[in-house]
Amino acid sequence: MTPPLLDVQHLTVVFEGPRAALTAVDDVSFQIAQGETLGLVGESGSGKSVTAFAILRLLQPPGRINGGRVFFDGRDLLALSEREMRAIRGARISLIFQEPMTALNPVMRVGDQIAEALRVHGLATGAEAQNRAVELLRAVRIADAERRVRDYPHQLSGGMRQRVMIAIALACQPPLVIADEPTTALDVTIQAQVLELLRELKAQYRLAVLLITHDFGVIAEMADRVAVMYKGALVEQGPVRQILRAPAHDYTRSLLAAIPGGRR
Ligand code: ADP
Ligand code: MG
Repeated sequence: MTPPLLDVQHLTVVFEGPRAALTAVDDVSFQIAQGETLGLVGESGSGKSVTAFAILRLLQPPGRINGGRVFFDGRDLLALSEREMRAIRGARISLIFQEPMTALNPVMRVGDQIAEALRVHGLATGAEAQNRAVELLRAVRIADAERRVRDYPHQLSGGMRQRVMIAIALACQPPLVIADEPTTALDVTIQAQVLELLRELKAQYRLAVLLITHDFGVIAEMADRVAVMYKGALVEQGPVRQILRAPAHDYTRSLLAAIPGGRR
């Protein structure tokens, strides 16, 4: 059997407080196979983003990993140097955030931001990187990509900015993308379009995705398997269809009850 692409084992994250430490991620274990989408679902504050940041070793103090291991492509990420980790972030594992306006550089043309991602990882420079940027904007279905590549983020709609974020995330053709509430900030129609795009790109690029959301409806549409997080711990995980049909945990049932339009 091929080992999983991502193998998170007993991950624990604490935030040191003035009096006590708060355990934000509590003994969390899950795997993602190549090309697979795992949904990580839970209410706000349950520890989803902290899990993502811990995997990428982007936690800021007072947060710190207090236990567990994270294997990616057979390598123990928690044992790598910061330099080795930088070579992985963006190139092998990329991150799509909820809010593209804060993640994009407001004073840099979007094409240059895509080109920069390629340059940093030594994949392309100059005119070649600019051409790649146009291709990537086309890949995320931005119309008039040759012109849009020279736009600044504020000249784009929210949905287009999120497409640019996705283009940056895909620039180095990473095997794994972590998408943290990628559509939460968008209105419903645009949200559906961006999800559709992600679904297409996933198949086209054979991407594995860790899809983080508070919305079980998004999971039902996008994920192969789901892990349900509650107060820092995983309460259950399994194939999406199975958990939709027969949720084992009361908390999962309450998340399912909150899907607009009922269970799919
Ligand atoms: P979500 O599931 O909404 O993404 P987070 O992973 O962002 O939740 O946060 C999980 C918990 O971690 C929060 O409820 C909070 O208690 C704690 N936490 C997150 N960031 C910090 C921080 N910078 N300082 C202290 N505690 C934090
Ligand atoms: Mg979050």
